[in-house]
Amino acid sequence: MKAAVFLGPANLEIRELPVPEPQAGEVLIRVLGCGVCGTDAHIYRGEVANARPPVVLGHEIFGRIESCGPRVRDFGPGDQVVVDPFIPCGSCSFCRSGEPRFCSNETFIGYNRNGGFAQFVAVPASNAYALGSDARFEDGVLTETLSTVVAGLHKLAPPPGRTFLLLGAGAVGLLWNQLLRRSLSAALIQTELIPERLQRARELGADRVLSPREEDLEASVRTLCPEGVDYLIDATGSTEAVSQALPLLKKGGTFMCFGICPAEERLPLSLGWFYQRQLTFLTSRRPPREMGRAIRLLEQGAVEGRKLVTGRLPLERIEEAFRLFFEGKDRQLKMAIDPWAPASLRLGP
Ligand SMILES: [Zn+2]
Ligand SMILES: [Zn+2]
Repeated sequence: MKAAVFLGPANLEIRELPVPEPQAGEVLIRVLGCGVCGTDAHIYRGEVANARPPVVLGHEIFGRIESCGPRVRDFGPGDQVVVDPFIPCGSCSFCRSGEPRFCSNETFIGYNRNGGFAQFVAVPASNAYALGSDARFEDGVLTETLSTVVAGLHKLAPPPGRTFLLLGAGAVGLLWNQLLRRSLSAALIQTELIPERLQRARELGADRVLSPREEDLEASVRTLCPEGVDYLIDATGSTEAVSQALPLLKKGGTFMCFGICPAEERLPLSLGWFYQRQLTFLTSRRPPREMGRAIRLLEQGAVEGRKLVTGRLPLERIEEAFRLFFEGKDRQLKMAIDPWAPASLRLGP
């Protein structure tokens, strides 16, 4: 089978590998598509040390079961599935105390176990989730990302009628947009630097969209919400964007740290200010298993993958996809690899 093997920073090769043999409790998946995540692009650049090369990256897997290893009862060949990439060890103190997301010996498909930028991947059946046989490519490759946003919203649990400032309108920010619009928000203000993405945020239903480089963020927010917003959600990972927006939180408000900020950056904030305003600081990483709920939202059409997945590229163009992640933000929202598409075919931008 063809696979994109990550060998180290800026070093990736398309290689011929043997099709994996599903072990007991595993299913072999024919990969129909695998989303390109920002994390993959950062790993490729050598900016995050999550991956253990040589490894096949790709953790946003959508495919069809090809065969099952021994002791798999819930799936059979032909079933369409998506994959939760996180495999807790089950035996460390965190796993034993019911907090597997803090697992000390985790395996993550696409980081330290071969993932979906390949024609086939073997995964534990317990990590696979069934999709309808008519599931669209765009919905399949978006499910894992959506599940992280579903988990974040679950943690935020906003009552109806609240106001939100959402930073960023990349794929993750636009998924937040769609879920917040349906949670009866009183106002959703979304910021973004790329005009094409702002336009998309507006089309999807944000009440006010703006670029903080073009407009005065504070004045724009205070026009709609004089006392500030109830919730600030960061989907940029930009410490600068968060520092600028935090003062716009209303007293008693909540900040959700969702984007992945560079570890070395620091926030210039006063704990006294946080204390006086009685603010809450939340994070949402390594979600509980929300794949099933994400699938239902996509099936219902509450979230439409087609509006977010803009590029479908063959495996051979994966390094180009990583480059476009950083340099093609005006053209691409979310890209996915189709490992069966011929290398010559130009399906993407
Ligand atoms: Zn991802
Ligand atoms: Zn564990």
